[in-house]
Amino acid sequence: MPRGAGYQGGTLAALDRAGVLKKAVALGHVSRGLCWRKPPVDDGAGGMRYGDIIARVAFPPSNPKDLAGTTSALVLPQSKLAKLFLDEVQATGLVKVHFGMELTAIDDDGDSVKATFRRTGDGTQETHEAAFLVGADGGRSTTRKLLNIQFLGHSWPERIVAIDCVFEVPRTTEREYPVSFIVHPIHFGVVLPLDPYEPGERSLCRCAVGLDPADTRSDEEVASKESLRDLLEKMLPGPRPLDVEIIRAAPHRIHQLCASTFRRGRCILAGDAAHLNNPFGGLGLNSGLLDAEAAADALALILNEGKPLDLLDAYAAERQRVFQIFTNPVSTMNKLRCARDPEHAHEDWVIRLVNADPAALKVYGKHFYSTWRTDMRALAAKLSSSA
Ligand SMILES: Cc1cc2nc3c(=O)[nH]c(=O)nc-3n(C[C@H](O)[C@H](O)[C@H](O)COP(=O)(O)OP(=O)(O)OC[C@H]3O[C@@H](n4cnc5c(N)ncnc54)[C@H](O)[C@@H]3O)c2cc1C
Repeated sequence: MPRGAGYQGGTLAALDRAGVLKKAVALGHVSRGLCWRKPPVDDGAGGMRYGDIIARVAFPPSNPKDLAGTTSALVLPQSKLAKLFLDEVQATGLVKVHFGMELTAIDDDGDSVKATFRRTGDGTQETHEAAFLVGADGGRSTTRKLLNIQFLGHSWPERIVAIDCVFEVPRTTEREYPVSFIVHPIHFGVVLPLDPYEPGERSLCRCAVGLDPADTRSDEEVASKESLRDLLEKMLPGPRPLDVEIIRAAPHRIHQLCASTFRRGRCILAGDAAHLNNPFGGLGLNSGLLDAEAAADALALILNEGKPLDLLDAYAAERQRVFQIFTNPVSTMNKLRCARDPEHAHEDWVIRLVNADPAALKVYGKHFYSTWRTDMRALAAKLSSSA
């Protein structure tokens, strides 16, 4: 199933701090920039060309070996980053990873947490005891449900369909803006190259495209070959019928939801278990990685440096605040900026800013480094000095 692939801002610094950024860059590629476009138009030769650019942002050239703190974006499928993390933690010899275990019960007695799992293979149960439990078990989090924590917010009326496919990038494509947000009131979307590409060559890319909210077809019908091809023809340039190979695809319901608390007792939530947002602008996995960095620091401060257990409250409040004041509104506007009439898209303030004064965008961009990321050590120091 297509999932997260783009990383930017504070996440690059967090990956660097975790010692995996250089390896992640070697496995992926660095994006040069992005643009907002009108939908494809007739090319006068029987095919379609990309629609006109409404606004563009070129990332300054950066040394791919030293991406942290730059405005560049790293593109790497989430499955490859997860494998990299797995290899790195196992290499420490300190971590044992159990696969095929499903969490079914949590017992927090105030001194430790007992978590019960069912083996998916033979159905047998086993219980593990630990000082703390981090629920990072995704949007349908069993941890969140077992802890009786509410998930508050709303779901969008439309589904989006994520399609990974191989097609020939037209020779006329501007190489500086590989990521295209397609502006359209219904079939809005994004085209993101998953591999470095050369205009004129076939390349793997991710297309996410909105469905009409009135579309009552089942997910299975939407995921049929003909339906996917029809959706891709609304997004991609090239000959008609489109010469495209579909690798994988899945329709998704999209949400803006946040857990009513990220902490209960000795258990905390992180990632999609704690918050969900629509994928425009790639903020979901990035936010989860930044939760993980803050959670790791909070737990290290408590376990190794004798800081009080209440530091978990600071983690929970701070990461919930960041979602509510940053990730949620920014991702909401990223989606709405694409889901509108392309003829009036230039009226949006970000589009105006990009077109009028690219330097001013830096002021907006700096929040992706400061506001989005939590310095748990600084927060802990501030709390102890005010205690
Ligand atoms: C089409 C699409 C594109 C996206 N693009 C981007 C992007 O470019 N950048 C970005 O930042 N984000 C993106 N996202 C969002 C991103 O995919 C998610 O935010 C991210 O996967 C969340 O990671 P997670 O580890 O919190 O949850 P998940 O990836 O859902 O992982 C949860 C894990 O918990 C396990 N689990 C669940 N229940 C249990 C249980 N009871 N017991 C044990 N284990 C359990 C699951 O098997 C899974 O391994 C995109 C999402 C979609 C749908």
